[in-house]
Amino acid sequence: MKLRLLDFGTLKADLGWAIEAAGVSTHSNATPEALRTDFQMLGALIEHPKEGVILYDTGPAPTWEELWPGPVKEVFGITRYSDENRLDNLLRRAGYGVKDVKAIVLGHMHLDHAGGLEFFRGLDVPIYVHEDELKYSFYAVATKQDFGAYLPHYIDSSFNWKPVYGTEVELFDGITVYLTPGHTPGSLALRAHLNNRESFLFTSDVMFFKDNFYECKPPGWLVRDMGAWWKSLERLKSITRRYNCKVVLGHDGSVFNQYAQQGVFGD
Ligand SMILES: [Zn+2]
Repeated sequence: MKLRLLDFGTLKADLGWAIEAAGVSTHSNATPEALRTDFQMLGALIEHPKEGVILYDTGPAPTWEELWPGPVKEVFGITRYSDENRLDNLLRRAGYGVKDVKAIVLGHMHLDHAGGLEFFRGLDVPIYVHEDELKYSFYAVATKQDFGAYLPHYIDSSFNWKPVYGTEVELFDGITVYLTPGHTPGSLALRAHLNNRESFLFTSDVMFFKDNFYECKPPGWLVRDMGAWWKSLERLKSITRRYNCKVVLGHDGSVFNQYAQQGVFGD
């Protein structure tokens, strides 16, 4: 099994979304400087010896500028996205077309991870999402209670949704997903066991940055369930220890660059 990282571009947002109390005003500093930070958008292309091409996350829609509401673009505007960050072009560079993708696994259904499903409209490719995430995202869009993070353009019954049940499922030989709520109710981390030497763990946005995972800093305004987040942190740390994983965090550009530079992993 082979794996490479996909560069879906960068968005910029206040660090307070990702790290609790980052840049908060204090008694001695009532007007702190705003901490706007780059959020790398990323995914993975897995070449599975039996299943073929599998994607983990799809990035934003290529037409995000038209599809994202104004207030979302104000807060989470994309600052880097060109032709080379389009999923169809990333696939082409790896030697594949959109129609070669045999399965898509979504870490969660937010617009910067699932909006790229637009490339697969009408293709009937199975899209694996945790049951809790699928239910919540349709509900969030229908009621507008969590609208913005989820958008209706891809939360659409015409796709071939495949719910994932339970807390740990080996979806394909060597590819296991783990329910890790906190950022959203049904976030799925994915572990790809490439060979006896290498295992990758993708945390999705339950851990945005190194500070969340390695310094145990809880997330800021994007948290939905803090109690669940602490349990997910322990779970991900335990999986990392057990399989000696290379850990790719949801939006950490430094980790992304380190692995993306190395090209293709596995054999
Ligand atoms: Zn995200």
